[in-house]
Amino acid sequence: MLSAPVDDSLWQQQVRALIEAGRELHARGWVPATSGNFSARLTAAEIALTVSGRHKGKLDEAGIMRADMQGRAVGSDQRPSAETLLHTQLYRRYPEVGAVLHVHSVNATLISRAVQRGGAHDLVLAGYELLKAFHGNTTHETSLRVPVFANDQDIPRLAAKVDAWLDANEPIHGYLIAGHGLYAWGRDMAETLRHIEAFDFLFECELRERGPCNA
Ligand SMILES: [Zn+2]
Repeated sequence: MLSAPVDDSLWQQQVRALIEAGRELHARGWVPATSGNFSARLTAAEIALTVSGRHKGKLDEAGIMRADMQGRAVGSDQRPSAETLLHTQLYRRYPEVGAVLHVHSVNATLISRAVQRGGAHDLVLAGYELLKAFHGNTTHETSLRVPVFANDQDIPRLAAKVDAWLDANEPIHGYLIAGHGLYAWGRDMAETLRHIEAFDFLFECELRERGPCNA
């Protein structure tokens, strides 16, 4: 498929948004040691995406690349992250999604391990005022299901599991990979950052409530 032209001001805007998100998330300690990856939609056919292996707190324009919805580089020979498919499957599925952020925070890592150790396949967040931070929630009297997938270095296989889960369940704002981290998305970068921040707060609440022995 021929790639649609990407407006340069839109590219610059998304590059800036990704650089700023990297600084913010690194300052929170959520993308240590070059971990994590971020993307923002450019068009129906393309995203702007962090180049594999870059330090997310020190991104510049050279650390951002274009990729198509199959996760292939567009206009450069840079290497997209192996996890690009986990981003593009969300843009393909949800036309309204404008940004996807993947972080390796301590709270996401620990709660995913605790859920897995308990034999469950999801975490249900209920009764928290902060659930209102998620798009579409207007009350704390709701619950949010966060699936926890087993970690897998075979990304197409993991992406297929995520797709199957999304086919069969209510829409969600993010999911965990056990012992690994969190994927979250939203309509734009600001909303996605808000979702990441709300998830991390709620994961920490869950961990503290379980107590130090179960965290
Ligand atoms: Zn990761």
